[in-house]
Amino acid sequence: MRVHSAKQGLCNDRQNYISILSHGFIENDVALNVLLHNQATADEPNRAAQWHRVPSISLLIEHPRLGWVQVDTGSHRDAMTTRWPEDVRRMNPLIRSEADLLENRLAELGLKPSDIDLLILTHLHIDHAGGLDNFCHSRTGGQVIVHELELKQVLFDLYVHNDELRNGYLRSDFIGLPGISFETFEGDSLELADDLRLIWLPGHTAGHTGVMLHLENSGTIFYICDAANNRTNYGPPARLSAILHNSEQFLRSIERARWLERRYNATILFGHDMAQYNTLRLAPQCYD
Ligand SMILES: [Zn+2]
Repeated sequence: MRVHSAKQGLCNDRQNYISILSHGFIENDVALNVLLHNQATADEPNRAAQWHRVPSISLLIEHPRLGWVQVDTGSHRDAMTTRWPEDVRRMNPLIRSEADLLENRLAELGLKPSDIDLLILTHLHIDHAGGLDNFCHSRTGGQVIVHELELKQVLFDLYVHNDELRNGYLRSDFIGLPGISFETFEGDSLELADDLRLIWLPGHTAGHTGVMLHLENSGTIFYICDAANNRTNYGPPARLSAILHNSEQFLRSIERARWLERRYNATILFGHDMAQYNTLRLAPQCYD
């Protein structure tokens, strides 16, 4: 098994590698992730809410032509102290160590944020865009790739409502960061290379995007992220999450993901699935 390490330099064998970086865990009510989970019934009218722990991950791709491609950034280093509003910290506490921060996960591989060649954000929620400030004034930070509708939604939510946090977006995560600017794309997909494609999967948020990568030995990996938080959302049948921008789009995106899964015989990678997480080979190991 290959260990992903910057010390080996960019691979020259024309092959892709992908590492899964762990950023700790988030605890919250199961019903946030699966709407009406444990719904009360006539014979059990007092069913209680359930609390669970889910993983938070990001991806690091080593691509022979594009270089180091980072997908998402985890939560901000000060999330649980000063950054996240107190009610958010109580409803979604982060269980995390120093090692789980993006900059430290990269350091374990011999990399710095400034070594990243391309940064993609699947969406701009607090647990995905929180580490964006690692890329201030870097060449990568000047062209962060995100779907245009995602950026428009964030600007609308934060500026029209003038809140610090709205719909899962935290103003300080990305507004006013020096040297950060976005390169947006529109429409259904963006082909970054013939084996690396971004696919618009709206519903969880307006511009939520999945990432599809073809690997020589592991086949096609399709990171659908929070288009379906976990296997239960994905189904079939698909089940809505309570964290939702548009329910019709959410269900349609899962159908689209399912079609692409069949088309490419892909392995689906969820954003927050504990059972799947326990089966993954995490960095410094990688998939090739
Ligand atoms: Zn999300």
